[in-house]
Amino acid sequence: MKLFGFRNLRVAILLGVLLLVLNYTLGQRLHSTTWSDPLEVVIYPLNADGKLETTAYIRSLTQRHFEPIATFFRREAHRWGVIEANPIRVTLGATVDAPLPPEPGNSLLSRLLWSLRIRYWAWRHTPDAASNFQRIRVFVPYQQGSDGKPLAHSLGLQKGLLGIVNAYALPRQRRQNNVVIAHEIMHTVGALDRYDSNGNPIYPDGYAEPERKPLYPQRRAAIMAGRIALTTGQSKMPRSLKSCVVNRLTASEIGWLRKE
Ligand SMILES: [Zn+2]
Repeated sequence: MKLFGFRNLRVAILLGVLLLVLNYTLGQRLHSTTWSDPLEVVIYPLNADGKLETTAYIRSLTQRHFEPIATFFRREAHRWGVIEANPIRVTLGATVDAPLPPEPGNSLLSRLLWSLRIRYWAWRHTPDAASNFQRIRVFVPYQQGSDGKPLAHSLGLQKGLLGIVNAYALPRQRRQNNVVIAHEIMHTVGALDRYDSNGNPIYPDGYAEPERKPLYPQRRAAIMAGRIALTTGQSKMPRSLKSCVVNRLTASEIGWLRKE
């Protein structure tokens, strides 16, 4: 057997790619949570159902529609004493004209392969103008939606600074779409989910005001719970980012609190 046969070469190349990705994403992770410069967030719309109405909706989007996300980060960072005035800058990128890779199966291997695949996909369809170390890419597949069928889950990957937010192409959904986008951006910088298996906020980690008396109803949503607790086991979706907060636990996860 030749030492540098095709098989060995292939394994070596695969290992090399894995090492490169690992090294690259480690860098992305470290650079993204120092909060010493504004993080660039680019929103890339996709037409997920191929419908003309969806294309028209995407064409109607402007940067202004995503401005509340930057406002939310500015307001909350300020509340936690972050010195950087604008923790993130949000811009609207070009529409991506390629379908997302299909969702992974449940096995660990298929999830691992998918996370590599999605990063490769993102790199191919949104090439770097500058460095990706300071850029979070959020892909938003828009669709009309039908018959109350729920949308696929959105997600944010800390490794790779990527988010995918499945959204309805409806003007009245814009504010709530922004809540989901902000939630997924939080994941990319290290925040964890704070809701239970029924989708209700976990007490106290998923509450905006866990010390409030009386406790219920809560007035605002903790962004990583994504919902406002009304009683135990009951919650509602906030109308907009105006009724969302970054609570202490999330603030500490994303590096907004000074080490005590
Ligand atoms: Zn989440």
